[in-house]
Formats: sequence, structure tokens, C-alpha cells
Amino acid sequence: MRKPIIAGNWKMYKSLGDAVETVLALKPLVANANHCEVVIAPVFTAIKTVADRLEGSNIHIAGQDCSTEVEEGAHTGEVAAFMLKDVGAKYVIIGHSERRQFYAETDSMVSRKTQAAIKSGLSVIMCVGESLAQREQGIAENVVSGQLGGGLNGLTASDLDRIIVAYEPVWAIGTGRTATPEQAQEMHAFIRRVFAERHSSGAAEKLRILYGGSVKPDNIAGLMSQGDIDGALVGGASLKADSFAQIVNYRS
Ligand code: PEP
Repeated sequence: MRKPIIAGNWKMYKSLGDAVETVLALKPLVANANHCEVVIAPVFTAIKTVADRLEGSNIHIAGQDCSTEVEEGAHTGEVAAFMLKDVGAKYVIIGHSERRQFYAETDSMVSRKTQAAIKSGLSVIMCVGESLAQREQGIAENVVSGQLGGGLNGLTASDLDRIIVAYEPVWAIGTGRTATPEQAQEMHAFIRRVFAERHSSGAAEKLRILYGGSVKPDNIAGLMSQGDIDGALVGGASLKADSFAQIVNYRS
């Protein structure tokens, strides 16, 4: 059985005070959510304080990115994966489409960041997904399998236990336009097949694949009813404690 993950990506939103206020409101609302893992990804500067305020709760912390470098060193502006772990993160999001689009992140950078994160003891939420133009050209599967192959390059079989894939079609992120549950399921099943071919059927069976792209309280249940959708990566609707809690509690 794959335990679902519902993760909130706060992007570059919230001052420290707002972040603390939101998690304190969220904590009691999701306290009984044993059916899934709950994860929040605040900005770097809020991670330590938020992690401290969540100690003993069922909410885990993710970083939104990390450096390609494993060790500390002269890399101005970078944050190493071990530093995220040090301040309380369990996960890190790597290869989000905003980083690929606006910060020129390549598959080879995604691969190096992933290896650094795993070496540092974090689990990775690796984002893949096609643009609208790529979907319309009929090359969505090629794009996604290329991103997966590039990002997962060089990992050992035991590293795969620390990989979670988030399928986030770029045309559905922050647009209000969600992939239908059937469209998402089709790509998730494809991702699992690619994983089985590249690695093993056992690893593919264990792999958790999250869907991301305008997930809201009113569409989460339909998405989660699909066999290969193992959770969600939620942007906008994770910013408010009550809407994120409704998504987490999709079964009640
Ligand atoms: C995201 O940022 O990962 C995301 C899916 O955003 P939204 O839910 O706002 O589309």
C-alpha cells in the first residue's frame, strides 16, 4: 500500500509571522489525518521556526529547492540539502516547473540536486510535466519520460525509496485549469511504466506519484479516486489553512 502524500508548496509567499500563523491554524485541522502524510514547503527563511512550531505534529517540512553541491563552500546564495535537513526538513521539492522555466534549471541540475538531497538524508519530490504547446504537439509523454530519465540518472536501487514524483502539467499550474482525473491517471500510469522499465517493477509499485496543478478542495477526491494518483502537490490552495485542510481531509 502506498501512503498518499498531500504537500503544500508555499512558493515565495508569506512572511515569517504569516507562515507561523498558518501552520498553527492548520495543525488542529489535520491532526486526525492518518490516511496520508502532510507536508508543507515554506520559504527557506521560515523553515526552522515553522519546524519548531510543528514539532510532535503530523506535519512534515519540505524545502522548495536545494543546491547541486553536497558540501558547504563558496556558493553565494545557495542552500545545501544538509542545511535543510539540519533545520528540520524531511523532503525537498526539486525541478519545479517555475525553476525550470524562470531559472533555467536543466535535467542534469535536477539530477545533481537529487543526488545531493539523497546523500544528505532527504527524500525528493521530483517535479515533471509538459507545457501546453508540448501537449498539443502530442509529445507530452516524451517530455515527461525525458525529464524522468534525466533527473533519476545515476541513482542506485536503494536511492529510489527516497524518490517521489510529482506530475505537474505546466498548463495546469496556477491557471485554475486542472487536468481531468482521467488525463492525470493516464500520465501517472505512464510514469509508473517508465519507472518499471528503467528500474524494476517492485520499485515502480512502491513509487508515490503526486498530481499537481490547480488542486482544490472540490477536485481532490476525483483525482485521488484514480489508481495511480498517490497524493497531490498543492500551490495556491495550500496558502490558507482551511482550504489546505479540506484537501488533506478529502476522505471525510
Ligand atoms: C505548484 O506550485 O506546484 C502548483 C501545483 O500550484 P497550483 O496548485 O497553484 O496550480
